[in-house]
Amino acid sequence: MKKEDEFGFERVLEVYDQKTGMQGVCVIHNTARGPGKGGIRMVPDVTTAEVMGLARAMSWKNAMADLPFGGAKSGIKADPRKLTPEQKEGLMRAFAGKVREFIPGLYIAGPDMNTTEKEMAQFADEIGSPMACTGKPSNIGGLPHELGSTGFGVATATKVAVEHQGKSLDGMTVAIEGFGNVGTFTMKFLEEWGAKVVALSDSKGTIYNKDGLKYETMMKAKSEKGTVTAAHGEKLDAAKLFELPVDILVPGARPDVITHANVGNVKAKIITEAANLPIKYDVEQILMKKNVVILPDFVANAGGVISSYCETMSWNEKKMFEVVEEKLRTNTKIMLERAKENDTRAAALVIAKERIKEAMEKKGEWGKQYV
Ligand code: NAD
Repeated sequence: MKKEDEFGFERVLEVYDQKTGMQGVCVIHNTARGPGKGGIRMVPDVTTAEVMGLARAMSWKNAMADLPFGGAKSGIKADPRKLTPEQKEGLMRAFAGKVREFIPGLYIAGPDMNTTEKEMAQFADEIGSPMACTGKPSNIGGLPHELGSTGFGVATATKVAVEHQGKSLDGMTVAIEGFGNVGTFTMKFLEEWGAKVVALSDSKGTIYNKDGLKYETMMKAKSEKGTVTAAHGEKLDAAKLFELPVDILVPGARPDVITHANVGNVKAKIITEAANLPIKYDVEQILMKKNVVILPDFVANAGGVISSYCETMSWNEKKMFEVVEEKLRTNTKIMLERAKENDTRAAALVIAKERIKEAMEKKGEWGKQYV
């Protein structure tokens, strides 16, 4: 990975705590638009290079969402399955102590892999301020992801793309990969807005029903039988979902699901990337050449980080949904209007970088970089 660019990195901080054995890294890529915002992941093999890449990606995501945040990310090197709750808390508190001086002016934390609202409560408590992080429990001012901000944003971006083509969601067929936090809310809102979800998948497989699946029935199948495949319909392999004859495809679970091996079989005309990195850029380009509209991950799944911003503003749930809708609507539209030859990802990156550059220019920081 190229280490520096004209936007960062502002700080790459590797920290170690003798008492608890905590090893962590906090990377602040760019703060021209506001404090670096990015979650803390707790995984045994986290590397500084990985966190740097993620911090930079957060700069683009936050700028594209038009939030007053920069980009940052943190990692703690530990296997949470091997830790007692007390040990895990000890690591979180030790990490908080080491990054304290950057909070909240340069860094605001949030949950990521293996960290939840519980760890965020500990983090905020250790710093002594609710401004230290987002994703806190609702009883201390948090706006939990369980409210469905990301799925709502994914559904909103999809609706905007359909309308941009002069069409309506009414009767459009949809296939959604994954029926977790993001997948359930994506289905709920797309169904409410007139689309017909005909296929859903989870780790057990795909369920396909040409006549349409119903949100309430699928929630029931999931809670009672543990899988969407228990509902009425044709049961297929999980990977078959991407090849179904649908108007809209929503990869919403795992990375790299559409590859050179199956891209030729994709029939959808709009792909909304709810998951992170579901399609590599070279594969996306093959689809773009076939006039498929791709709503890239860092644009389409920004509902969660927009909700985090609302949490820092102490706004309530109603206001949060309004803000997610307004930002997803505006930014998806700008991206679609500016995309040349369907390259929405390139257009979104240019927009994000322009916004950061403008903020750096205002601060007199642009043009003075060493790289
Ligand atoms: P989740 O854990 O709530 O749900 C994941 C779902 O994927 C589950 O239904 C699971 O059964 C399913 N799944 C697992 N393996 C599968 C397989 N092989 N085929 C089909 N489905 C499979 O996770 P989530 O929060 O919904 O996140 C999903 C994706 O969205 C992730 O890539 C995540 O990084 C991304 N994302 C989530 C948020 C958020 O706010 N939750 C925000 C931005 C991006």
